[in-house]
Amino acid sequence: MLFHKHYGKSVSRLPLPGCLLEMFPDEVDSQSEQSALHGGRIRSFKHERGNWATYVYLPHLPEEEFRLLLKEMLLVARGRGVVMTPQEEFHLSLSQTVALRHHWIQPFTQSLRAGLVHCKRFICSAGRLRIYCNAEGTRTFLGMEVSNGHAQLLDLVQVVDKTMAEFHLDPFYKDPSFHVSLAWCVGDLREQMKEGIQELQSLVDDHEEGPFQLMLDCVEVQCRTGNKTFRFPL
Ligand code: AMP
Repeated sequence: MLFHKHYGKSVSRLPLPGCLLEMFPDEVDSQSEQSALHGGRIRSFKHERGNWATYVYLPHLPEEEFRLLLKEMLLVARGRGVVMTPQEEFHLSLSQTVALRHHWIQPFTQSLRAGLVHCKRFICSAGRLRIYCNAEGTRTFLGMEVSNGHAQLLDLVQVVDKTMAEFHLDPFYKDPSFHVSLAWCVGDLREQMKEGIQELQSLVDDHEEGPFQLMLDCVEVQCRTGNKTFRFPL
């Protein structure tokens, strides 16, 4: 049995003072600095006061059909001895998780907004399962890799990378594998999961009404920084 520690939505959302809302008009919610990251994500740098774990992504709101399929996949994985936790929220990353100084939040999000203002909405799809591991080898993810929309996603990454460079922060992968992570577990289980991935893929491919495709409606980029979420409509 594998145990994990959740980073996620467990901490109650704090109302923002009016002045802060004026400074950050695009915030949609707020959490404590310690609970900044989506399930399974861990920061690769030591938490320091005033350093906010930050990343940029496209949110995905899955349909019931997807949740049922995921449940089925996790049951099969469990039967093979791999216990995975489903993501609490689904997203497609457009950046790495970087450490942003608190006083950089406003100029950082302003820079993102200025760059993203010219980017148009699009739809991308994903249907092939792939296993990912974080750089530290402490988390393994079951993801669905994008098959359509790669070029538009690269355009978004170019904008995000430009902002990252302005703030001397790391760019995204040179050759990214865009994906939506579905579930995660502790440790580097890439080898163990390799064997079972085809069985899970069969569940996706032999889905009731033809192969399942995850459709991602890319209408808004979001940036999570510490306890704040900023929204950038496309
Ligand atoms: P995410 O669901 O976006 O948090 O991604 C899960 C993990 O996949 C992250 O820890 C990434 O660092 C990792 N990953 C490994 N290889 C890649 C890749 N080629 N492109 C994107 N993410 C990757």
